[in-house]
This record gives sequence, C-alpha cells and structure tokens, in this order.
Amino acid sequence: MVLEMVGVVGLGTMGAGIAEVFARAGIRVCGVEADEVALARGRAHLERSTGRALDKGKLTAAEREEILARVTLTTSRADLRDADLVIEAIPERMDLKVELFGELDRICKPSTILATNTSSLSVTALAAATGRPGRLVGMHFFNPAPVMGLVEVVGTVVTDPGVVDEVAGLAVRLGKSPVTVGDGAGFVVNRLLLPYLNHAVTLLDHGVAARDDIDHAMKLGVGLPMGPFQLLDLIGLDTAYEIMNVLFDESRSDRHVPSPLLRSYVAAGLLGRKSGRGFYGEAGDGPQDKAPARTVRVVGSPELADRLDTAGFKESDDPDVVLQVGGSLPLSGNTVRVRLSGQVAELAVSVLTTQEAALGAHGLLKIAGYTPVPCKDRAGLVIEALLFSHLNDAVRMYESGYAAIDDIDAAMRLGCGYVTGPFELIESIGLATVRDGLRALHAERLTPSSAPAPLLDQLVTAGLTRFPRP
Ligand code: NAD
Repeated sequence: MVLEMVGVVGLGTMGAGIAEVFARAGIRVCGVEADEVALARGRAHLERSTGRALDKGKLTAAEREEILARVTLTTSRADLRDADLVIEAIPERMDLKVELFGELDRICKPSTILATNTSSLSVTALAAATGRPGRLVGMHFFNPAPVMGLVEVVGTVVTDPGVVDEVAGLAVRLGKSPVTVGDGAGFVVNRLLLPYLNHAVTLLDHGVAARDDIDHAMKLGVGLPMGPFQLLDLIGLDTAYEIMNVLFDESRSDRHVPSPLLRSYVAAGLLGRKSGRGFYGEAGDGPQDKAPARTVRVVGSPELADRLDTAGFKESDDPDVVLQVGGSLPLSGNTVRVRLSGQVAELAVSVLTTQEAALGAHGLLKIAGYTPVPCKDRAGLVIEALLFSHLNDAVRMYESGYAAIDDIDAAMRLGCGYVTGPFELIESIGLATVRDGLRALHAERLTPSSAPAPLLDQLVTAGLTRFPRP
C-alpha cells in the first residue's frame, strides 16, 4: 500500500492518538477538526501525549519534534483530497459519520481507502452510504491508541478483495497486531467484553454479591487486569449501555439485554470517571473487618485447615462455623460453602446460613490469608457464573464462524490485557469443567444463552481436551 499521506478526522481521545500512531511510523498525517477551538484541543492532546513519552524516555526531543512536524492540522476537509487513507474518529453518531463519508467520497481521489474507528455502528451501512462501498472498512483502535497493540480490521460483504489485507498490513507497519473480522456488532472485543460486564451488573442488581467483592473475585481470583465495575467506570457507563443496546438490537439474545441497573446509573448521570462518579463514588467504600468465628471445622481442604490451625484456630466437633470446601454436607445454619480460587475465597451463604456464621466465616478466611467474597449460594457463585458465561460466548463466537480461535485469543489479550485468551483459559481450566459448570448455570437459569455452546459439549463428549486449530 502506497501511503504518502493519511487523513484523520476528529482529533479527540481516539483521533489524536491515531494521528500520533501514524506520525510515529514516519507517515505524514493531515488532522481535521470541526473548528479552531477543537483543533487547538487536538494539538494540545498530541503535544501532551508525545511530551509524556519524552519524559518517560521513550522518545528523544528530536524524535518528538519530527513526529509533531509530520502532523498538519486543518479545519478544511478539502485538504484531504490527496490522502491515501482517511480514518474518522468523530463522535459515535450514524448521521454525523454518514455526512462525513459522503463528503470524503466526493473530495478524495478514487483510490483513497476510507476507514471508520466506530466501536458499534454498522460499517456496512457506512460503506453503503458512499459511492465507494468496496473501499470503506473499519479500523478499530483501542484507547490509548499509541499504547494498545490491537487493531480490529473490519471488512463487510461489499469490501473489495484485498482491501482488508492492505489495511491489516498497514496496521502491522504501525507496530500493531491486526485481527480481521466481519461486520458484527461490537466486533470481537466489545462483543465479548460488554456482555460479561453487563452480567456483573446483573449479579449486583440481584444482590448475589457486592460491587467490591465482585471486583476482587475477578481481579484476584481470575487474574483479570481490573474488576468489572472498575472497568465499567473507565469505559463510561453510557458507552457500555449504548454498546449493549447495539448488541441486543442485532442479536435479540437474552445475554445482551442491557441491565436495568446500568440504565438507572446512566439515567442518573453517573457515567463513571468522566462524570466523577459511577459504580465507584466519592464516598469511601473501604472494606470492613469482620470478627472471626472462635471455633471452626473445615471440610474438604487440609490446606485451609492447616492455615487456620497455624493461626491458632483449633478444630472443634461442635464449631461456630463449618467451612465446607467442595463436597456436599447437608446445609445447616452454621455451614458456609467455600470455593477457593487463587487468593480468593467465595463464601456461599444459603437461606439457612445465620448472619453470625456468615460474618464469622468471613473473618476466618481473611485470617487464613484469603480475600473473602461473600455471595448468595447460586450456581457458579460469582467467578464461575461470570467467567464461564464469558468463555461460553467466545466459543459461540468461534462456532458462528465470526472469528478464528487464535484471533479471538489475541484480541482479548491485546485489547483487554488478559494474560491468556478465552480458549487458552478454557483449556487450562479443562473443557469438561467449564462445560459442567455451564450445565449447572443453565439448569438454574434456563436461559438459552447459558447452555454450553454445542461445540464445547461435543468436544467434551469426544474426549478432547483442546480446541481444534488449523
Ligand atoms: P471524542 O468525543 O473524544 O472525539 C471526537 C472528536 O471529533 C472531537 O474532538 C470533536 O471535536 C470532533 N468532531 C466532531 N464532529 C466533527 C466533524 N464533523 N468533523 C471533524 N471533527 C469532528 O470521541 P472519541 O472517544 O475519540 O471517539 C471517536 C470514535 O472512536 C467514536 O466512533 C468511538 O466509538 C470510537 N472509539 C472510542 C474509543 C474510546 O475508548 N473512547 C475506543 C475505540 C473507538
């Protein structure tokens, strides 16, 4: 792909970062903004970002000057007539983008490729609104664009052969890892990530566990970089809600019904970091210490029994609390079911559990060195309910032919900072364990989406422990 000059329209959060990415790769950039005020903001954004890189020693002063010198800023779209590629990063509104691409189509030379950074709008609809539908694709960068390694390259049913490969090749030249996908709502990352986040909100709404406990469970128990509520506050609750709506409009799946609690937060203007308050607010929400039960009996985990013994808690035949790890004793008022995942101890409280036993178990697990996650005694508790459903979505995505296994794994690693992709994670947990966990979830919920993906079920039935890769 000959690339003398690239246009970037909209120099906000994403556009300024995208302009920087191209300029860093030695490509001339023409950045277009709506007016002079926005243009000054875009320039400041670029200067701040490259200034930070200079302070951190990632750029020399001379390199920074070269990068900034490669970027020309203008309010005139006509300056894009010679661009080889124009990527838009204006607000997520169909009417604005259709108007923009209509004009770019008239201004730009016939060979120019047009690209959209949209997160959730139909790339096909945008392409169809121009006179060059074959040369309009999605080029979905992640925030912050100079840092995040993933670019989702989105082709449509009308994209000319070769255009997606050209744009993917360009992404490699920019030092990014492209994943090429079709035009499905949310592409790979948002289509998998947002339903998981929405599910966490549903658990909170249903009182299954508290905000901080769910965040601890997913961060410390699963090893995700952030808890779901921390991430929602970062993404913006309005953006998350909007993407859920787009997903639901396309799929009509029970999995994509936007949580009413999420809607309430958005309606109340609590949008996350951008508005100063979202699921996390100004008020201190620090953890509260609970007094441990004085006597205990541990069933099913010699390690936990040892830890408590070392901490001075002697086993008793008539204990205040029975901690049941695995197994299935008949439940009673002082029994708390415990599931250990890494440093997290989920504490399942049933209708029978007394408040005293629940609090006493919480204190004991904390003393034993775990992060207690109290929750209602529901299938999958917190971790498996959230994680296995999320993994199931990935299997369904692959099964639908939307994206390849390795692409889904790479997209989630690079786009969300996961240490392992969903398929690698299923294989490390065990396909049968995930399938059985999903069966338990489905038996309790009976929602169509909670059933194990047929492929997962078939692989387990066939005795396979890995997904087939080409
Ligand atoms: P933003 O509001 O920060 O920036 C949009 C910019 O576009 C503003 O600077 C605005 O002045 C400018 N603009 C508006 N109308 C314009 C016009 N007609 N011509 C030229 N410039 C115009 O928005 P953002 O967060 O950077 O999002 C931009 C796009 O990127 C959206 O489609 C969004 O869905 C997508 N996206 C956002 C993120 C994210 O995390 N913010 C991540 C990936 C993709």
